[in-house]
Amino acid sequence: MAITKTNFINYTRCQRYVALENIEKEKLLSDISFEEYQKEEQENYLEELIESMGEMSEDGSYQDKVNVINKQLEAMMPYYKKVEEEAGRISEITFGGKSTYANKTKDQTSFDFKENNIRYLCYVDIFNETEKEINIIEVKATTSKKYTDLQASIKRGEKKYSIFQKKNNIYYLKGEIKDYPLEQEMTYENYEKEKNKLLDKYELGKYIYDLAVQRFIIEGEYKESNHTHLLPKVHYYLAVLNQNYIFDGEYKDGQPNYHKDEKKEELITFFSFDTITKEYLKIITKEQRKLEENLKKLDASKCPLGEYCGYKKNTECKYFKAVCGNHIPEKNSSLSYIRNGFGFLKEDKTKIKGLELINENYLNLLDVPEDWIKRENHKIQRECTKNHTQFIHKEKIRAALKELEYPIYHLDFETFPCPVPRFKGEWPYIQSPFEFSLHIEHSPGECDKEKDNIIFLADTMEDEREEMIIQMLKHIDPEKGTLFAQNVAFEKARIKEMAQIFPQYKEPLMKLYQRGFDLIWLLDNKKEFYSSIGFKGKELETMNFYDERLSGSFSIKKTLPVFSDLSYKDLTIQNGTEAIVEYANYKKRSKEELQLKKEALKIYCQQDTWAMVEILNNLRELVNEKVVN
Ligand code: SF4
Repeated sequence: MAITKTNFINYTRCQRYVALENIEKEKLLSDISFEEYQKEEQENYLEELIESMGEMSEDGSYQDKVNVINKQLEAMMPYYKKVEEEAGRISEITFGGKSTYANKTKDQTSFDFKENNIRYLCYVDIFNETEKEINIIEVKATTSKKYTDLQASIKRGEKKYSIFQKKNNIYYLKGEIKDYPLEQEMTYENYEKEKNKLLDKYELGKYIYDLAVQRFIIEGEYKESNHTHLLPKVHYYLAVLNQNYIFDGEYKDGQPNYHKDEKKEELITFFSFDTITKEYLKIITKEQRKLEENLKKLDASKCPLGEYCGYKKNTECKYFKAVCGNHIPEKNSSLSYIRNGFGFLKEDKTKIKGLELINENYLNLLDVPEDWIKRENHKIQRECTKNHTQFIHKEKIRAALKELEYPIYHLDFETFPCPVPRFKGEWPYIQSPFEFSLHIEHSPGECDKEKDNIIFLADTMEDEREEMIIQMLKHIDPEKGTLFAQNVAFEKARIKEMAQIFPQYKEPLMKLYQRGFDLIWLLDNKKEFYSSIGFKGKELETMNFYDERLSGSFSIKKTLPVFSDLSYKDLTIQNGTEAIVEYANYKKRSKEELQLKKEALKIYCQQDTWAMVEILNNLRELVNEKVVN
């Protein structure tokens, strides 16, 4: 054993973690095989990939991490391997010299050093060496947008500029570019404010922190082996997918050929993080001391929950659910108050939010003192939970229902969020649709589950997008009716992308795009919409419907049992993740298996739109005084 990069990140979460791991100290200096190392790194790697695909499930609910890892990632792994291969290839074009990269094999370059009876070890994704420089490159299957979205301006309301500038396929922080006229674009103060977000190791700085832990180990080895003269030569980069890259549809030996695109963009781009990793080194050195102390103490007693637990993130500590957070109620906990990012103001005017509530033993929704609850929606939640009643703003719901134009097109896409683009016009992580279900409701309640349902499912993993558009437009008249979906922004975004990639269908697609209406607006709220139909004041702020079974969420998983007996439990495919897996595994199935899986995919997608029809129907009955059971 030894302390690897992933171990370091986990062991320094809190003092309890190492004790729960029950690490045998004598093993910390012993050898670690590459296979053992790989096993340790793999989990962390998979977590990162899931995060890149979107942390939550498509219905906004929190999925079981292990479940997601096992299923989705196995299916997606060939695409992630491609990201690494391309990063290695493009690193030689960008930096020159020679790159050692080996797609997670033993040939990766490794570094290690020993200190205070502990061996620290890391492998480097890409080790690039030119005559003048050594470039350490960590590959992350995320996109450049994550960082280029950091923007600042001179003052509020004025044009914002990215804090990064790209040169020869490498992004640099503008404040670090010699003679860059930064103050023509933003104040130094605003620039620093954005830049400091990169130093939040639990949020945007997570991958850079990871790179910094490598730097700590690399510098440790160079110091130990008296190679400190090399330190100024070493530079640190993240390699990520280029959000601006558009695949031109050229294939070589049946595989996409990711050469430079029309605008000369590469599939992979690099971010220079020499100064930020240097900043992190100060923190890491302190953490190293803390880790050594924790290893000495091995104290497994309870410690407060904090951001280091990674609650509800893909970095969630493996002990959260099982040990440290197992006393948090699954339903209606103090964390279930809707949109409660700022928490509550206590009597002494201090704020309390998130896991602090749990640390102070406010576990249930009703444990939070009534005096702290100031927002109307929170009062509604509390009342419904306390008295087991439903809140219904009938007038608002009725008025909204009247705005729906018929036919209502209940639409749902299943999509494949591939890290590398597969088809012409696509870019990294585009949500490429492979299936839709459409239920057409001709007039209120007039919709047959089978007869009024159209399903398109890609027959192969080849490009069937145009056929999908044709099928969709064959059944939808974009001149009238309503495009209806749970989280309609998702469906609208797919329609807009189709219009961009297939301009010959732009006109009808964009007409359809304009007709979107979200199921959530009926239950939760949509201020602008209700204002446009004449509601004012407090009514614009409050939700339309609440039931304690929602436990603070309007995801379809929560609303469906309130309004219908439909359930996903008996279906072969029960969620969007499983649908992705089945599509990604098309080529692995026998003819008979594939037939069954396709059938299951159709049933699942049909259920998604039929669920909306049912909810809408029951909501109509509810506002006409019929009580939902
Ligand atoms: S769940 Fe949180 S407190 Fe518990 S071991 Fe993990 S990081 Fe530490």
